[in-house]
Amino acid sequence: MFKKILIANRGEIALRIQRACRELGVRAVMVYSEADRDAKYVRLAEEAVCIGPAASNLSYLNMPAIISAAEVTDAEAIHPGYGFLSENADFAERVEKSGFRFIGPSPESIRIMGDKVSAKQAMIRAGVPCVPGSEGELPDDPVQIRRIAKSVGYPVIIKAAGGGGGRGMRVVHTEAALVNAVAMTKAEAGAAFGNPAVYMEKFLQNPRHIEIQILADSFKNAVYLGERDCSMQRRHQKILEEAPAPGINRKLIERIGERCVTACKKMGYRGAGTFEFLYEAGEFYFIEMNTRVQVEHPVTEMITGIDIVKTQIMVAAGEKLPFTQRQITITGHAIECRINAEDPFKFTPSPGRITTWHAPGGPGVRVDSHIYSNYFVPPYYDSMIGKLIVHGDTREQALARMRTALLETAVEGISTNIPLHRELMVDSKFMAGGTNIHYLEHWLEQHKR
Ligand code: ADP
Repeated sequence: MFKKILIANRGEIALRIQRACRELGVRAVMVYSEADRDAKYVRLAEEAVCIGPAASNLSYLNMPAIISAAEVTDAEAIHPGYGFLSENADFAERVEKSGFRFIGPSPESIRIMGDKVSAKQAMIRAGVPCVPGSEGELPDDPVQIRRIAKSVGYPVIIKAAGGGGGRGMRVVHTEAALVNAVAMTKAEAGAAFGNPAVYMEKFLQNPRHIEIQILADSFKNAVYLGERDCSMQRRHQKILEEAPAPGINRKLIERIGERCVTACKKMGYRGAGTFEFLYEAGEFYFIEMNTRVQVEHPVTEMITGIDIVKTQIMVAAGEKLPFTQRQITITGHAIECRINAEDPFKFTPSPGRITTWHAPGGPGVRVDSHIYSNYFVPPYYDSMIGKLIVHGDTREQALARMRTALLETAVEGISTNIPLHRELMVDSKFMAGGTNIHYLEHWLEQHKR
């Protein structure tokens, strides 16, 4: 096992990784920007190094600063968390070339999965079902583009190979709009992602977002830890997640999970990863893979009892996965609500000083957050300030626990989206389970205020 790990992230995930390090008896080095200097999780770390000013590109995205922080503190490995540099193959490469272990997959795996066209091709080879569409990058010839769209069937979606964060996509309903839409998406993709390649998929009308969590070691052992339902989204951003996904045939999940495991073994994938699928009319369609720990990993931890972050560190240190697929069992139901510092219905960010923070508790309640009374939420980063996670024997019990937890939680001084979560937890359609990816946006439209 490593003696010392550098945590190249901030906020709740930095604290989450720090907790895992403590349990493993590993010293944690925290890096921080000037805006995070006073945060308690920074003070709690055995060592902390300032890597630059508040702006992310000068601190949490500053590769040389992070690598030199690892050098001066004699860390052996770097955990990137999620966001920031976590899916940057060049960073992973620089980390390893500088003699540190990157806690995640190899740069090659990140590169293949970071390009959605090559990711899809790898999945097709591994027998993972994908959304029907173009076989690879779209050609320039308008005649060929039209022919591909006709065979896929309208509506289609044009997606940037290098896209991410819900950007670089355009839905096309008619042939008349097609060629122009492709040209525009290409131009935008070139400007935003430095890669103008685009591909085409059938646009699924009312899918759910279901994803499979996997873990793999360096010895070609891989397992899947069931699925998560992340369909409650606004602008392609997840708001709350749950596991298992309500109402989906377990045998089907097992089949898809096994395919994901096969794909990992074929790729020689190491670490934690998530296969994201759209699910419609009883079918799964792969859309992309995330090669890092996800925000919503706790719901999977709650139903499997497996510590995903600890396992990431263990396999990065060269240990074997400590469990086999047959040893993984799913117990009960878990829900996670993301707590954002924002207006609950207008979604304007609400940074500032938290005057009161009262965390909920009781059986089956978990709070992953770095905040406290008198914490100042800096305006420079993502608005998520923590996550409330509950576990119950059944989905009904989990819902009841989440309602109680949300009732107990108090955040004063700033606005949060807790009032939105309180309403969603008593919404009859959400309570029935199985809402699709458009449900929340429609709900917000109907509940405008
Ligand atoms: P990103 O990397 O930007 O998150 P994804 O490929 O994961 O891009 O897609 C993000 C979201 O866009 C999906 O969760 C879904 O809501 C929508 N989407 C993507 N592809 C399709 C598709 N073929 N049909 C319908 N919706 C899609």
